[in-house]
Amino acid sequence: MLDITKIRADFPILNREVHGKPLVYFDNGATSQTPQVVIDTIVDYYTTYNANIHRGVHTLSQEATDKYEEARLKVQKHFNAKKAYEIILTAGTTHSINIVASGFAALLKEGDEVIVSALEHHSNIVPWQMLCEKTGAVLKVIPMDEQGALRMDVFHELLNPKTKLVFCNHVSNALGTINPIEELIHAAHKFGAYVLIDGAQACPHIKPDVQALDVDFYVASAHKMCGPTGVGMLYGKEELLNMLPPYQGGGEMIETVTFEKTTYAGLPHKFEAGTPNICGGIAFGAAIDYMNEVGFEGIAAQETALLDYGTKALEEIDGLTIYGTSHKTSVISFNIEGIHPYDIGAILDKLGVAVRTGHHCAQPIMDFFGIPGTVRASFSFYNTTEEIDVLVAAVKKAKMMLS
Ligand code: PLP
Repeated sequence: MLDITKIRADFPILNREVHGKPLVYFDNGATSQTPQVVIDTIVDYYTTYNANIHRGVHTLSQEATDKYEEARLKVQKHFNAKKAYEIILTAGTTHSINIVASGFAALLKEGDEVIVSALEHHSNIVPWQMLCEKTGAVLKVIPMDEQGALRMDVFHELLNPKTKLVFCNHVSNALGTINPIEELIHAAHKFGAYVLIDGAQACPHIKPDVQALDVDFYVASAHKMCGPTGVGMLYGKEELLNMLPPYQGGGEMIETVTFEKTTYAGLPHKFEAGTPNICGGIAFGAAIDYMNEVGFEGIAAQETALLDYGTKALEEIDGLTIYGTSHKTSVISFNIEGIHPYDIGAILDKLGVAVRTGHHCAQPIMDFFGIPGTVRASFSFYNTTEEIDVLVAAVKKAKMMLS
């Protein structure tokens, strides 16, 4: 088990108060908190070697370049990519998905089929809808069941030789469902379809191995993994990244430019036009180091304990329904009969408890359950059962005030 007291001391923000109460931060699914070592990395960058990368002969530029490329190697190692240049450093999951979706716009044709899951975040739905509008490809949806699990029986029926792409999240942000991505990837490949896995919600809890998964594209955001906002990653198999056209034109992504013709740089620079989030990339590397130091086994054990404890305690509240009861990460999405989730969230905030309320950028899931939204408490490894007690007491109080 993790030494939670020691771990909590790494996160200065956990000491603050909100409305005069100790902060209980249960909005980790939206963004995780940042340990001091990552904050120090950011301060160190701007204090000692802030410079643009790749183009400078001066010392600061070289130091910044070395650290940035070191961060890419950390990401490569963490996700077990074969080559460092299969890792594109992006602005985050949304950016990564759009790079792939816009690339396939040049490769799909009318009548091709793409499959997306019913459990997706809007950022893994809308870019593919835009792709279908541009190309005339048809979007198919893997439905879900009442537990919040994907109907894999239907998925297998949807697959056919016209299927070109399959998109699915590794873990659902709204419900926490862990999807059977190994089965999905294997089945899609039998039909020659490429698979993109949105790992935004999985990576805070699980260490994915892209080679073992044999996944074609895998994407994630640093800010859900103890890192800063505005930076993330796209893993793609070398031959597929080479096949896709660049996403944006500009500096860094070219080999030669004349007014007659431009030739593009090789990987990864082909997809990294313009000055990147240099400090963010370096801090992403530091966040990955931190999470590995804590260790994913310990993270999983702590978060499973929190999920079990929280589920039991919340289930005892009369009129409370939990959405998503399948195999899942440490997310509890719930409503109380007759009360709008926003109202519960607002009262919890006054009591120092930060949760997310609303549709969680996953409106199709809310439509499936026929609800406007939920209250979502998402736990991280630095949370405690005592904090869950505060949540439960606050929910009871909110219920009493709002009923
Ligand atoms: N996909 C999932 C499953 C998410 O939970 C999120 C963010 O909550 C995203 C994609 C979008 O991530 P970002 O806003 O970092 O691009």
